[in-house]
Amino acid sequence: MTTTVSGIRTLVLNASYEPIAVVDVGRAVVLVLTEKAVVVEPGELVLHSPSVTLTAPSVIQLCRYVRIPYRAHVPVTNRGVLVRDGYRCVYCRRARATTVDHVVPRSRGGAHKDWDNVRAACRTCNHRKGDRLLSELGWPEPAPVAAPSPRSWLVVGVARVESVWTPYLQGWTGLEAVPA
Ligand SMILES: [Zn+2]
Repeated sequence: MTTTVSGIRTLVLNASYEPIAVVDVGRAVVLVLTEKAVVVEPGELVLHSPSVTLTAPSVIQLCRYVRIPYRAHVPVTNRGVLVRDGYRCVYCRRARATTVDHVVPRSRGGAHKDWDNVRAACRTCNHRKGDRLLSELGWPEPAPVAAPSPRSWLVVGVARVESVWTPYLQGWTGLEAVPA
C-alpha cells in the first residue's frame, strides 16, 4: 500500500469525539486497517494497492479512548496566532493580517513565547510599529488574551483546517469559523 500521499491530512478524533490530532493520511489509513480507528468522514481520494482499495479518510475516530497528557502550555506558532486573531490586524482592525507582531518588541525585552505578547498584524502596521512600544506611538493596547486551551488547539494551531473538519471542531476549540 502506498502511504506516502503527501499533503493530505486526516483529522483524528478521540473515542469521545474530541479532536486530538492531525496526521498524515498514510498514518490514518494504517490506524483504520489495524482496526484502531474507524472512518467518520471518507475523503475523495482513493488509494490503491494490489489487495486493497481504500478511500483516504478525512476524519477518523479512535476505537479506544486515549488519555491525552495535559499540556500546561501550547507552543506559540505564527499560524496559531493568526488563527486566534481571525487573520485580522489587531492594530488597525481592518486589514488582513499576514504577520505576527510582538506587542513589546523582543529587542525591548518582550517575550516571544507568551501568547499575550504576540498578535496578528498587517504588514503596514507591523512595519510602522517597528521596534517601538505602543505607548510611544499612542496606539491603544489590545485587550489581553489568555493562552489557548491546550488540547484541541493543537489541531487548528498547527494544520490547515479542511472545511470537512469544521463540524468536528465546533464546541471544542471555540472557533466556529476557522478560515481555510
Ligand atoms: Zn493593520
